[in-house]
Amino acid sequence: MHLNGKNVAVIGAGIGGLAAALAMAQRGAKVQVFEQAETLGEVGAGLQISANGIAVLQALGLDPIAKNSGNMPSVVELCDHKSGRVITRLPQNRQAGKPFLQLHRADLLADLAAACDAAGVKTRLGCACEVLDVEKGVVSVQPDQAFDAVIAADGVRSPCRATHFAGTKPGYTGQAAWRGLVPAQNFLRFAEQAGTRLYLGPKRHIVVYPLRDRSLINIVAVQERADWTAEGWNQIDSPANLQAAFADWNPYVRELLGQVEHPILWGFFAHPQLSHWAKGRVALLGDAAHPMLPYMAQGACMGLEDAWVLAAMLDRGDNVPEALQSYEHLRKPRASKVQQTSLGNSKIYHAENPLVRFGLHTGMGIAGKIAPSLMTQRFDWIYDLDVTKAA
Ligand SMILES: Cc1cc2nc3c(=O)[nH]c(=O)nc-3n(C[C@H](O)[C@H](O)[C@H](O)COP(=O)(O)OP(=O)(O)OC[C@H]3O[C@@H](n4cnc5c(N)ncnc54)[C@H](O)[C@@H]3O)c2cc1C
Repeated sequence: MHLNGKNVAVIGAGIGGLAAALAMAQRGAKVQVFEQAETLGEVGAGLQISANGIAVLQALGLDPIAKNSGNMPSVVELCDHKSGRVITRLPQNRQAGKPFLQLHRADLLADLAAACDAAGVKTRLGCACEVLDVEKGVVSVQPDQAFDAVIAADGVRSPCRATHFAGTKPGYTGQAAWRGLVPAQNFLRFAEQAGTRLYLGPKRHIVVYPLRDRSLINIVAVQERADWTAEGWNQIDSPANLQAAFADWNPYVRELLGQVEHPILWGFFAHPQLSHWAKGRVALLGDAAHPMLPYMAQGACMGLEDAWVLAAMLDRGDNVPEALQSYEHLRKPRASKVQQTSLGNSKIYHAENPLVRFGLHTGMGIAGKIAPSLMTQRFDWIYDLDVTKAA
């Protein structure tokens, strides 16, 4: 095994970084993870993990389905924003023949962190670091240290990408989301809801789904807005702003949004594709390599796929720079296509003209009734790939 005994640094303990650390440690690498945060805490919100991401978690030895059988919705309901009327229902999970999970990001992180511990990964928290030399794999971890390979999984605002892979600047898309969690006990009517709900309106949409065996409700409320807001987990907004943005929507939605105490406001930026993900002994992974809009709910899933393929490529030979190039070669086309698809989907969600919206909704309604699978089959190329069998 070519990863056996190799010293690898992973910068960033998000979903992508921890999955990569685990995949490499399981193949015998000595992996150290450096994370700037002091704790791997409750930062985050809900994540939808589709079949392609689940396949990687299973191959890593986690058992996400058995552990989360209460977090597998049977249906996605597309609803009108004003009336709350269900436009169409699309099958999920057993009905659609593909597993699909809704997880709290903190729960998935905790499972990955425990598996990393068990596999011998050393994690250093409170350690913000940077890559000093891409050719020699030197990282500023006090004291500076050289590694056989350095994986920068340092997120959407990746310092490593900015310093060593500089591309064109991201552009604000004119859209931002509030993310929030509400205890289900504060909103008992939610118990009636079958699965995921998507409310579509002009220039806005809301995704609502249950987490942790229906004890929490996850909300993502997206608005088109001219004023610029930053990307990331750090900006808590006033609940009044969230409520005002959806004040003319149906009572169910208004009541739900009224329960969100600490909405996180997150600006959506379109990131141009990078020309490279790998240089010398350093490779980008996850959002650091391919930040994407959440319209396909694939950011974390792509990070999981990256992790598996990266470890497989590093395990094939002793030339680390060549292995990292192979990883880039295998992953970049697919992740870039998902990035583009996510960007394109934003237009379907927010049709402003009522006639266009009616057409889209009617189309969805008819398609949903006649052949619900057609609505989801469009994206089979995403969900059907199992990188653990391909790489
Ligand atoms: C509204 C919204 C909804 C989403 N929904 C979904 C979904 O349903 N399904 C899905 O698959 N994806 C979804 N995503 C995307 C998903 O959240 C991200 O793609 C994924 O979490 C990225 O993981 P990561 O490990 O690449 O980065 P992160 O989770 O951002 O981790 C990066 C880590 O690096 C650390 N770090 C940064 N700089 C340094 C440094 N210098 N030194 C040390 N550590 C550092 C950070 O502290 C952080 O812990 C959504 C995103 C948004 C905005």
